[in-house]
Amino acid sequence: MYDVIIIGGGVSGAASARELSRYKIKACVLEKEEDVCCGTSKANSAIVHAGYDAVPGSLMAKLNVKGNEMMEQLSKDLDFPFRRIGSLVICLNETDMPKLQELYEKGLKNGVRDLKIISGEEAKAMEPNLDDQVCAALYAPTAGIVCPFELNIALAENACENGVEFRLGTEVENIVKIDGGYELHTNQGNFQTRYVVNAAGVYADRFHNMVSRKKIHITPRKGEYCLLDKTAGQHVSRTIFSLPTKYGKGVLVTPTVHGNLLLGPTANDIENKEGTNTTREGLDEVITKAGQSVKDLPMRQVITSFAGLRAHEDGSEFIIGEVEDAKGFIDCAGIESPGLTSCPAIGEMVADILKEKMRLEKKEHFIETRQGILDPNTLSTEEHAELIRKEPAYGNVICRCEMITEGEILDAIHRPLGAKSLDGVKRRTRAGMGRCQSGFCSPRTMEILARELGKDMSEITKTGGESRLVVGTNKDRL
Ligand SMILES: Cc1cc2nc3c(=O)[nH]c(=O)nc-3n(C[C@H](O)[C@H](O)[C@H](O)COP(=O)(O)OP(=O)(O)OC[C@H]3O[C@@H](n4cnc5c(N)ncnc54)[C@H](O)[C@@H]3O)c2cc1C
Repeated sequence: MYDVIIIGGGVSGAASARELSRYKIKACVLEKEEDVCCGTSKANSAIVHAGYDAVPGSLMAKLNVKGNEMMEQLSKDLDFPFRRIGSLVICLNETDMPKLQELYEKGLKNGVRDLKIISGEEAKAMEPNLDDQVCAALYAPTAGIVCPFELNIALAENACENGVEFRLGTEVENIVKIDGGYELHTNQGNFQTRYVVNAAGVYADRFHNMVSRKKIHITPRKGEYCLLDKTAGQHVSRTIFSLPTKYGKGVLVTPTVHGNLLLGPTANDIENKEGTNTTREGLDEVITKAGQSVKDLPMRQVITSFAGLRAHEDGSEFIIGEVEDAKGFIDCAGIESPGLTSCPAIGEMVADILKEKMRLEKKEHFIETRQGILDPNTLSTEEHAELIRKEPAYGNVICRCEMITEGEILDAIHRPLGAKSLDGVKRRTRAGMGRCQSGFCSPRTMEILARELGKDMSEITKTGGESRLVVGTNKDRL
């Protein structure tokens, strides 16, 4: 019997697991995919929002501002990329000034520091590529950008090092109340636990509704993006938002922590909880709307497009807490934007709830820090040469676009919760994320995965399940 089972290995589940691993506890994360960071946490804008957008007094507002404050120290402790670059919400029309003022006031109420409204000239001096119509902007210096994959993986790795079990490829199918807890039925057998944390993203309503009479409803709200090559990464140096609409924060233009330029997202409610395909109309909308805030966008530099699904609950609020009519069942549902920003605070809140209920005791030897995968480009020439002398795999470049070596890929495969698929390697090292989008390196990465995992090339998948890349040999056809 576990003390706690967490359903879902996205940022909410992983942050909760890490915070719980500070205590003497038998905890486990059940994740249906072959890796952590396979849901919404892998496909979003990666902005650490300042916190002026959420309704004052809401849990979203509180956890956004707190998560933003916590992110910097967390990025140091767990060694993932985070940059506090600031953001501008731009106003293109004098008649929209009241909306900008309203955002500013919400920000003040939410406790966002150093927020100010600046003139169009000031904004253009900061960002010369802003549209000429810009008449004012809300400047939030505390906003930042993060690598969502590394944030999610770092939290999970650290939780794992601190004793949390991760059962990947384990899909929860049903939840049954038993004496003193719950039994979770999965495709890998049954698991009993005293407490459940429901951090299943767009599926969290399904699990909540299995145990409670008071139903909740989550709509997948799709957001589509275009990602541009690093040659376009300097086009703006801060995150540029348009004014928010009732569906969200609008289309943004932002540099990423790795130096690309990201445009998007759209916001369309859909039925399909797996509907992460991009559409012609969605991408056209991204291009048009991004072009209204920032001029001369080099659209020939688009290297890929993708989409993510916001877990939009009907009440437009995070639902975190014990379900009233299901004791021991803790919801972490409706975690749409700013969920990424808030995740350090979400993890803390979930752990605080359980600490109180279970009277948890702190562990003596919690491992607070974690070392990310070594990036040889951060070394001096001498150090780099020494590394290659000691470990020649760091001299073998596998991904030529991102300059990722075999040494980094080996590290990604062999560390706790290591990569098992091409996408697992990609999210941990960036091999395949560059201009050629893995056209060159995928067979080479597959060879390394096959060799290190003791598998045949034909068993290596893009992202687990049936996503095999090798379907036969040329000779089969003769
Ligand atoms: C378009 C878009 C833009 C966004 N931009 C931002 C932003 O810039 N800043 C920000 O702060 N937030 C942003 N967000 C929100 C943020 O990405 C989410 O709030 C956050 O990633 C949610 O994390 P999660 O762990 O709750 O959910 P997920 O990451 O979806 O994790 C849920 C996990 O549960 C697993 N699961 C589901 N069902 C089962 C089952 N039956 N059994 C086992 N496992 C299961 C899934 O596989 C998944 O891994 C954005 C979201 C979108 C879609």
